[in-house]
Amino acid sequence: MGRVACPGSFDPATNGHLDIIRRAALLHDEVIVVVGANLAKHGLFTVEERVSMLEEVTSDLPNVSVGTFRGLLVDFCRSNGVSAIVKGLRAVSDFEYEMEMAQMNYRLAQIETLFMTANPLYSFLRSSLVREIATYGGDITSLV
Ligand code: ADP
Repeated sequence: MGRVACPGSFDPATNGHLDIIRRAALLHDEVIVVVGANLAKHGLFTVEERVSMLEEVTSDLPNVSVGTFRGLLVDFCRSNGVSAIVKGLRAVSDFEYEMEMAQMNYRLAQIETLFMTANPLYSFLRSSLVREIATYGGDITSLV
């Protein structure tokens, strides 16, 4: 499989994201991590900050690059030669939304979505929780 995309908001990138990116990079020739810019103005970090943090934490992975998209993810995939979207599934609660997105993206552009099960070390980890813990002074050093 050639080039795949790992999309997300990455506000901020967590060790759970990084685990999926690293595992995807072992299986595919090229991985583009794409930060969705549509809703970024409601987030904590700017799109540029998210991209630069992702570049830093993936700098040891030669087949991983970082990009951004605005609009539809499937349009980004088509114009960048991406053949599949890779997503992590943390729990059953992720499944319904992800299945809907995968089916819609296939309907829109025949782009496949591949799912990887979350590393159990990180299956409780989501960016919004990290932001909340950091806001109240909790220790997030092992999470991001
Ligand atoms: P979050 O849900 O943490 O706010 P994103 O919207 O940036 O993060 O997530 C993008 C994708 O990254 C999710 O759809 C999911 O597939 C994957 N992901 C996020 N957190 C984890 C995790 N802890 N383990 C595995 N995959 C994850």
